[in-house]
Amino acid sequence: MIRTKSIEAFQEAVKYIPGGVNSPVRALKAVGESPLFIERAKGVTLTDIDGNQFTDFCLSWGVFILGHSHPEVLNQVGQAILRGTSYGIPTLQETALAKLVNRFIPTMERVRFVNSGTEAVMSAIRLARGYTGRNLIVKFVGCYHGHVDHLLVAAGSGVATMGASSSAGVPDSFVAHTACLPFNDKAAVEELFSKRGHEIAAVIVEPVPANMGVVPARDGFLQFLREVTRAYGALLIFDEVITGFRLTAGGAQKLFGIAPDLTTVGKIVGGGFPAAAFGGRADIMRLLAPEGPVYQAGTLSGNPVAMSAGIATLGILSQEGIYDTLNQKAEAFINGLRQVLAPKGVIVNSVGNMFTPFFTEGEVRNFDDVKRSDTVRFGKFFRHMLAGGVYFSPSQFETNFISIAHTEEVLVKVIDVASRFNG
Ligand SMILES: *Cc1c(COP(=O)(O)O)cnc(C)c1O
Repeated sequence: MIRTKSIEAFQEAVKYIPGGVNSPVRALKAVGESPLFIERAKGVTLTDIDGNQFTDFCLSWGVFILGHSHPEVLNQVGQAILRGTSYGIPTLQETALAKLVNRFIPTMERVRFVNSGTEAVMSAIRLARGYTGRNLIVKFVGCYHGHVDHLLVAAGSGVATMGASSSAGVPDSFVAHTACLPFNDKAAVEELFSKRGHEIAAVIVEPVPANMGVVPARDGFLQFLREVTRAYGALLIFDEVITGFRLTAGGAQKLFGIAPDLTTVGKIVGGGFPAAAFGGRADIMRLLAPEGPVYQAGTLSGNPVAMSAGIATLGILSQEGIYDTLNQKAEAFINGLRQVLAPKGVIVNSVGNMFTPFFTEGEVRNFDDVKRSDTVRFGKFFRHMLAGGVYFSPSQFETNFISIAHTEEVLVKVIDVASRFNG
């Protein structure tokens, strides 16, 4: 496979852009590759600037559940653009998309749109603190909630790691109100709540952690979080930036039957444009400016082009049976992949249409298990798939996604490519 143009493009990019990319994982450092530069994408096919084609399982990090360049989405976006691209004044589209979000995820009784998942989480946390009058936030090791300062805390051993940021440039005092606990560890949560429960504003969790690879919650962990937060008057925030509109129409909360107080969504809701949202109980959301004292704003928030893309996307996702078909197809594919990878010592974790092949033995239940993975071998696997025309998410700690545009024919070929891996 000739990739000369991408390699040259990268050499040029690094002269002007730190690391040549606008988001770190895109550099493909973790898998020992040089980044692809993409010229176009349609359905599940990415075409790079050298003319190579790849079946995409990253899908812009889970955005394109309908596949790239869905004609109906492009059509509505095209019409929206012709009417102007931003006004900073309300539009009908914002209410239309908020209504759709509420219909899909009824716990989002009120919805506010922002421009990224990071912003949605940042605002939900501020609101939770404003509502409870408490400061402490609990997150879980390996869960990612965007690059907001006080949530860049991941490192942790023992019960609670307080005040140790995982990024340079974040003062310890900024993360002093963030407690970081191991995922799937009820005892650790219980211990923290018994000591400091009345200081805790909120527990934030990815209901299906996907930013350390897919690591499902088990043994009623999410239900336990619901109960313990309620008992102590803390809020439960589901960060469904990935899982919202992905696992089921109603996200992970529908799948597990748990109602959080606040929810963040992103990725799919913007239909490929920079939009995300947070929302939840009306009595909490009422505290947001201009109704209440918790400030939150955005020049391009609720952008009409992004709203149109979201409306078109959720409109298609409203079709009866669309998730059943997608998840059945995904299950067959993931089982097939599991079968060919198991003899090579690879475990495939999955929930619905999201999956991660972990290059490790034994179960993967939390970030400690994830870290035992052989990332060098994962890199070999990534490069093997790439050479076979398949673009998997380029890190052991990321998730792959199946869209309605992946045909069974394509998926069978991908399993065949994977079966030939012998690194
Ligand atoms: C992607 C992601 C974010 C951050 O969203 P951005 O749009 O990249 O800022 C937050 N939380 C979760 C669970 C995510 O997957």
